[in-house]
Amino acid sequence: MTDTALLSVALAALAGLAAGRLWAAARLRSGLGEHVSERASRHLFKGLQHLTTGHSDLAVGAFLKVRRNHPDSVGVALALGNLLRESGQVERAIQIHQRVIDRADLTRREHANALECLGMDSLKAGFIDRATQAFQQVLETDPRNIAAWTGLAKIQEDERRWLDAYHSRTRLARLRKTDEGTVLAYLQAEIGRDAAHTAQPEAAERAFRHALRLSRRVVPAYLGLADLQGPDDPLRAIAILEDLVATVPEKAYHAFDRLARLYATIGEAHRFTALCERLIQQDPQDWRARLALARALRSDSRPREAIGLLTRALEVNPHALIVHLETLRALRDLGLGGPLLAQYVTLAETALIYADPHVCSVCHYRAGEILWRCPHCHEWGTMVEERVAPTDSRR
Ligand SMILES: [Zn+2]
Repeated sequence: MTDTALLSVALAALAGLAAGRLWAAARLRSGLGEHVSERASRHLFKGLQHLTTGHSDLAVGAFLKVRRNHPDSVGVALALGNLLRESGQVERAIQIHQRVIDRADLTRREHANALECLGMDSLKAGFIDRATQAFQQVLETDPRNIAAWTGLAKIQEDERRWLDAYHSRTRLARLRKTDEGTVLAYLQAEIGRDAAHTAQPEAAERAFRHALRLSRRVVPAYLGLADLQGPDDPLRAIAILEDLVATVPEKAYHAFDRLARLYATIGEAHRFTALCERLIQQDPQDWRARLALARALRSDSRPREAIGLLTRALEVNPHALIVHLETLRALRDLGLGGPLLAQYVTLAETALIYADPHVCSVCHYRAGEILWRCPHCHEWGTMVEERVAPTDSRR
């Protein structure tokens, strides 16, 4: 392999490694187009070694030496900037990339690559307008640039511009040739929620139905659709939520409160009990259905039966604070513990912020309730209920 070829491969590897994330892997196609000195190859090799062992500071040092040997190389400058950005020195990265962009001798491709890098620096630094501008300029030269579309989509989602994000993500799906149906469905559900909040029920219904055509597993689309029907047509709302329960049984619990209310509205409260019993029969580990059934029993003045169900729920998920809390309420209703227990229940109800914790399966971000888009890693549909113990550890 010639030195130039080696350097091109190394720079591409560096771009991917330093970025750490697929979307940030700047594509450095420009190469060097010049002979690489033996000394520079040595520093380059050292830099890559440091990078693979996680010593990014040492890697930066080595790459600074490579640049000293090749001060005019666009590829080296861009890679160095990317490395600085990913090791937290965003301002230095911006300076280096900006200096490349200001050069008069760049090809169109090199100019677009440098803008792409600057866009990612700006995004990381929180300069959203500057990042947007850089990505848009990249797309003028290179409309198929995946990094620029990804950066734009992220900005649009952060700013809750769901329709723009939907178009960017659609474009990305075509470019990557991947199935982005689930993410697109979540975006349509958000479009629907916004429309519902701004009193545009027809637009909301269109968006929710669109979401469900894209993916039948996107819970907020069912919930939104049912909320639109609920007041005028409880039977239709019930049918939508029952469809959710049948299609995504592990997430059926998101529909429980609504279903209990709607069944009561049409005078058929017993259907909720039957639904919970059916779910428990289908999956004896379903502690959520036991909890919901226990709540229904307790509000029906049957706390003793509720406690039996809650005990079984705790056998399955001993760390579920909401089940412990519900057990305390049932004990209070039974008249046990007197005013002291009543006082304790009130205290626990106000103190338990994370009674029903959900956690992101990608970045482990933790929240007190499910969020459809993780606010930390920005992935869609990654939050699941937090389980401290394995399901059957006490069995
Ligand atoms: Zn996350």
